Amino acid sequence: MPIHEKSLIRPENLKTHEQLVIDGVDVSGHWSTFIEPRVVTDYNEALEEEISALPGGEHIHRCWQCGSCTNSCTVNAINEDFNPRYWIYLIRMGMESELLRDKDIIWQCVSCNKCTYACPRDVFPEGVMKATSHWLERKGHTPKSPSMHFDEVFTEQIIKTGKIEESRTIRRFFSRTKQGLFQDWMIEMVMRLLKHLPIGLLTRMGMATLIAPRTRNWSGAANAMQEYIAEQHEKQEQALTLAQLVDVAREDAAA
Ligand code: SF4
Ligand code: SF4
Repeated sequence: MPIHEKSLIRPENLKTHEQLVIDGVDVSGHWSTFIEPRVVTDYNEALEEEISALPGGEHIHRCWQCGSCTNSCTVNAINEDFNPRYWIYLIRMGMESELLRDKDIIWQCVSCNKCTYACPRDVFPEGVMKATSHWLERKGHTPKSPSMHFDEVFTEQIIKTGKIEESRTIRRFFSRTKQGLFQDWMIEMVMRLLKHLPIGLLTRMGMATLIAPRTRNWSGAANAMQEYIAEQHEKQEQALTLAQLVDVAREDAAA
C-alpha cells in the first residue's frame, strides 16, 4: 500500500535541482523537487509475530490502516513524526530498519488511549506502542525507556507492599532515571497539594511515606504475582525465539 503522508518522506530523500531548465522552462529549486526511489531488501518477516508475542501487541493483525489512531493521538498533535498507524504498517510489512529510524520517539506514547477508543478494529494501538517499546528494548535497539522504569518501580512496590505510596514511587523513579527530585513542576505540585488538601489527609500521606504500610497477609498474593510475571516473561521469550527461528527457516527455504 503506498504511503502518501508528506511528513513520512525523509528530508534526505527529497531532491531538488538548484538550476534546471526543461524545454525552455525554468524548473529550478522547489519546482524540480522529486522523491528519491528506495529499494528495501532487509525485511524481517517475523517482525509482526515478534511484536504480537508481547503484551499489547496481540491484535496488530486486525489493522486496516484507516489512520484513526494517528488522527486522534495526543502526541501526534504536537509531533507529526509520532505516527502509530505508520509504525503498525511497517511492523506488518516487516520493515524493521525503517521502524528503527523512529526508535527514539516510539516510547513517547503517553498511554492516553485515545487511539484505542478511536480504532474501529479493536487493534488496541496503545498496547501495540507498549509492545513495540518493549521489543526495541529486548532486542537491544534502545535502553530502557522512562515509562518502562516507571512500570518496574510501580510493580516492585505493589509486589513488596500490596499498596502504592506515590511519593516513594516518584522518588524511586527519579533515582532510577537519574533525575533530580527538585524539579519546577514537582515543587509547584507539592505547593498546590499543601495549599489545597486537608491537613488530616496530608498527615496520613506523610506517615505513609515514612512507614511504608503493607497490606495484611500479602505474601501469598505477592508470590502468585511473581510467579505469573515469571511465567509470562518465559512465554514471551519463547515466542520471540520461535518467531526468529521461523524467520531463519524462511530465509533458508528462500536461499
Ligand atoms: S495512547 Fe499513545 S499512541 Fe494512543 S493516542 Fe495516546 S499517545 Fe497516541
Ligand atoms: S485506528 Fe486501528 S485500524 Fe485504524 S490504523 Fe489505527 S490501529 Fe489500524
